[in-house]
Amino acid sequence: MPQNTPVSETFYVNSPEFRAVTIDKKGYIISGITFKGEYIASGVNIKKLQETIDEYINNTVVSVDNYLQNRLLAPSYQFGIGIDCNYEVPEVPALVLPPEGQRCAYFYSLYDSLMAQYQNYITKVDCDAECVAAGIERPDYMNDYPIYMYKFIPPYTPNYVEYERKATDKSRLKVYIVTGTHREYMAIWDMYQTMKLICESWSSDANLDALRWEAEYYIIPCSGPYGIEHNSRTNYNGVDLNRNAPTKVWVKTEEGRTYSGPYPGSEYETKVFVHYMDTIKPQIFIDHHNSNEGDGKNLIYVSSVQQSEVDIAATHISAMTRRWKKRYDEIFPSDDIIYGFCYKSSYRGGYRGIYGYEKGALSCTYESNRSRVYHDGQYDPEHFISYDAVTCTIATDGILNFLLRLLKTYSELH
Ligand SMILES: [Zn+2]
Repeated sequence: MPQNTPVSETFYVNSPEFRAVTIDKKGYIISGITFKGEYIASGVNIKKLQETIDEYINNTVVSVDNYLQNRLLAPSYQFGIGIDCNYEVPEVPALVLPPEGQRCAYFYSLYDSLMAQYQNYITKVDCDAECVAAGIERPDYMNDYPIYMYKFIPPYTPNYVEYERKATDKSRLKVYIVTGTHREYMAIWDMYQTMKLICESWSSDANLDALRWEAEYYIIPCSGPYGIEHNSRTNYNGVDLNRNAPTKVWVKTEEGRTYSGPYPGSEYETKVFVHYMDTIKPQIFIDHHNSNEGDGKNLIYVSSVQQSEVDIAATHISAMTRRWKKRYDEIFPSDDIIYGFCYKSSYRGGYRGIYGYEKGALSCTYESNRSRVYHDGQYDPEHFISYDAVTCTIATDGILNFLLRLLKTYSELH
C-alpha cells in the first residue's frame, strides 16, 4: 500500500478545543486539525500527538476504538431544543446614515443605549486598552478611531462541584461576530437590530428566547473604523482588512481595493480581530458584511471553506427567498429564482472567515445587501433602493434567522 493512503478513519477527542482528524494506515494525519486553538498541519504522527493530548486532557482521549463511548462524554451543546428556527422579524426602521466622521459614534451610541437598558446582560469592552495591555502597539492614526466590543452574556447556572459552588455553562456556544470590516453600514445596522430584538422581545418568542439565554455573543460593530468614517473600503494605510488576517493561505496582493498589506497581520485592526479570536475561542464566527452592488440580484451571499457551513447557508438562502417573496409579493417577481448564493472556497470572501476556520470555529463571511433592485413585481437595475425599511427588515430577518440555523445545527452535530 502506498504511503499516506487515506482510510478515512475519524478520530475525536472530548475537548472543545480539539477537532476531528483523518489519519492514514501508518498513523499520519491527512487532514488538518486544531488543538488548543493551534492549527496542526498534516504529516504529524498521530501517536506523538496522542501522547500530547493524553497529557493535556488527562486520558480522556477518544480513539477510533472507543469513539462511540466517548462521544457521549464530549461537550454537548444544547441550543434551541424545540425551536423551529423560524422567527419573522417585524419591520425594522430605515437606516439614516450620519455624516462621515460621526458614524462610529452613532453606531456605538446605539449599543450603549441598549447596554444602559440591559445592564445585567451587556458589557462594553475597550478593545484598544485591552490590546495595548496585551502588548499590541496602537499606531497614532487610530487615535480618533476607537474599537469597542459588546459582550452579551446571560448569567451562568450555579453548580456544585466537589462541594464547592461554581458557575458552569461549559456547553454554551460562544459566537464571535464582527461588522464594519469594510464600510458596510447595512451589516452594522442589521446586526444591531438583531441584538435589539433579542434584548427586547425574547419573552414573547421561543426562538429569541433561545438566542437570548442559550448562547453568548461577542460583537465588534466597527471593526474597520477608519473606513467607516471615510467611506473607504480600505483602512488608513490603504489595506483591505479582509485580505490581511494571518491565515495559512495568505498571499500578497497589489495595492488597490483588495490590497493585502505588506505582510500577514500587518494592520492594527487585524491584530485586534486576531486577539479576540484567540482569547474568546468561539465555536462560531461570522465576518458580517454587506454587498454594495446596486445592480446585484442577491440579497444574501455566504462564503466559507467548510462544506457544512455552505450547506446550512444554502437552505437558509432558499427559505429566506421564499419568505420574502410571500411577505413582499407586491415588490418581488413571482418567479422561482433564489435571491442569493453561497460559495465554498479557500479564498473568495476574504481571510477573516478563513482565520476563524483555522482556529477551529464554524466560520463564514455572511453578506446582506444594502439595496434591492426589485419593485412593482419587477427586477429593474435602473431603480434600486438602499437602506429603506423593507431592505433593512430583509437584512435583519436574514442574519437573525441565519444565527438560529447555525447555532441549532451546530448544537445538534456536537
Ligand atoms: Zn466587505
